[in-house]
Amino acid sequence: MHHSHRIKLCLLIALLALTPLFVIAEQSSQPEWTYVLPANVLENKNGNLTLVNQDAVLPSDFVPNNLLRVRLRSVSGPHELRKEAAEALDELFKAGEQAGYELYVKSSYRNYQTQSTMYSNRISKYGKDDGVVAKPGTSDHQTGLGVDVLNKEWANRDGMKPTFGQTAEAQWIEANCADFGFIIRYLPEKQEITKIIYEPWHLRYVGREVAQYMMENRLTLEEFTEEYQAAIKDYESRGGDFLELCRQLNAPPPVIELDETDEEGDSEVSFFGS
Ligand SMILES: [Zn+2]
Repeated sequence: MHHSHRIKLCLLIALLALTPLFVIAEQSSQPEWTYVLPANVLENKNGNLTLVNQDAVLPSDFVPNNLLRVRLRSVSGPHELRKEAAEALDELFKAGEQAGYELYVKSSYRNYQTQSTMYSNRISKYGKDDGVVAKPGTSDHQTGLGVDVLNKEWANRDGMKPTFGQTAEAQWIEANCADFGFIIRYLPEKQEITKIIYEPWHLRYVGREVAQYMMENRLTLEEFTEEYQAAIKDYESRGGDFLELCRQLNAPPPVIELDETDEEGDSEVSFFGS
């Protein structure tokens, strides 16, 4: 074996042997993260987990980042969603199409002012707040991550009713939305928690990992928020630094660079004697 090859090989073996020690040393300085989802998914850096309801109100000047025009089959519009949600919805529609379902976007991002107008229109029409239109600042649609998806028949109707859930399209959506990062935001058995009727059409983007966990366990965003925030508190009560843990998890993996070209121009390390 060429002399310089042998030196490089020894260095490589030494590095590989030492790496696990460094990893263990770094991890043992923090308590164990025991929650089912990785900590950095729950950091909510991108706002995907932002909870909006009657008790968690968005300010009137809240406008989501990266709004993107949605160019999908729709009955009104133009429609906008945050980039991740728009791209995921695109994939969801494609998969729906392949399964034989024609889906329609009915409602997407709504700014505070639009919600405010809808709310006052509803009140002047019915003389009171009948709970159908969310108060400005309390609509999931203001996040830019909420979208109403219907089939053709329902897209052309005036109102939306929970019986949409009985259609083949709604059942396909419920069974598959998590694979694209969406949850059914208002589940039928959770109306007392969400304070909103069953809305089989209202999808909310939270990211795939979280969506799969939530849909498997039939969790509302209210319940999930409580659960993961308790997990963070528990971690911190055991002396953990949550943000530091996220920073470590978000850091790119260390790259071990090997100078693989020696003076003779060989481009690989040979493990056989030459
Ligand atoms: Zn909706």
